[in-house]
Amino acid sequence: SGPLLKVENLTKHYPLGSGIFKKTIPVIRAVEDVSFSVEAGETLCIVGESGCGKSTVARLLMRLVEPTGGRVLIDGTDIAGLKKDALHAWRRRMQMVFQDPYSSLNPRLTAGQIITEPVENFERLGRRQRQALAADLLRNVGMSPEMMHRLPSELSGGQRQRVGIARALALRPSLIIADEAVSALDVSVQAQILNLLLDLQQQMGISFVFISHDLGVVEYIGRRVAVMYLGRIVELAQCEALFAKPVHPYTEALIAAAPVPDPTRARLATPVEGEVPSPINPPTGCAFHPRCPLAVERCRIDVPPLVPMADGRVVACHVRAPAGDARHLAPVTGD
Ligand code: SF4
Ligand code: MG
Repeated sequence: SGPLLKVENLTKHYPLGSGIFKKTIPVIRAVEDVSFSVEAGETLCIVGESGCGKSTVARLLMRLVEPTGGRVLIDGTDIAGLKKDALHAWRRRMQMVFQDPYSSLNPRLTAGQIITEPVENFERLGRRQRQALAADLLRNVGMSPEMMHRLPSELSGGQRQRVGIARALALRPSLIIADEAVSALDVSVQAQILNLLLDLQQQMGISFVFISHDLGVVEYIGRRVAVMYLGRIVELAQCEALFAKPVHPYTEALIAAAPVPDPTRARLATPVEGEVPSPINPPTGCAFHPRCPLAVERCRIDVPPLVPMADGRVVACHVRAPAGDARHLAPVTGD
């Protein structure tokens, strides 16, 4: 059987206006030609600076927005073609955990009502069934069942995020998309929530797409990582390999610029210089060229393709991963 989730050449452009001048009005190139796959029980982290298209990828996966091009396949089926019932079933299998657990929880509902609501959208529950389900879900996320009577305002940030995760688990999903799921939490609580997600994944075999701007969080999770820059994946590698030896100049700069929690680990060279260019009018060729210390003439003209490297990672860089270079065409191993 193929991967649980397969994303092929996914593209999303948002028009900046409409009407008779449409042709001359620029578009926001939020996501450009993004491809990846996630096996059952596997995690893919997507990392990049704000505005790189990470959240748009999440919205495309959830089919909250329609792609301009490309496909999202679940178990080999294109979700764009799903009719109402099948789309319903797909939504059941795919759940999202959001950044701000406070604004994503209805303040007027109790924790118990919030976490059982997804199930009640599909089937009517009696009072006892609902309470038993709420108690189970709260235990799953390490909370006491008595918490089911609390309102979001009566919970800590970490507890609110646990409630958000319990709600995502209610329908026993195959895939959870976590968009900046720990970014709003204190650092001490972040590790607890990450451990909870990793435990749940092991127990339940759930696949994760974990979106974060925070390299520390990505390194903690330690699975496959896709690095995005201005709507495109520029490097996709195993976490350890990525941190030990970033190949794309942007990945290298990102890691060099990140705070180093371990002072014995040497900092790499150049931090990222300059601002992220606007996705409205992205640079031609390699979008990183205005900030790249290695840029050559060709970088301004051609978009570099993702080229497989000998260690299994893929990299889009004319200089570091030239297409057609025999060194890079060794069999792709590992994943
Ligand atoms: Fe730098 Fe050129 Fe590689 Fe882009 S393709 S990262 S500009 S060297
Ligand atoms: Mg975002």
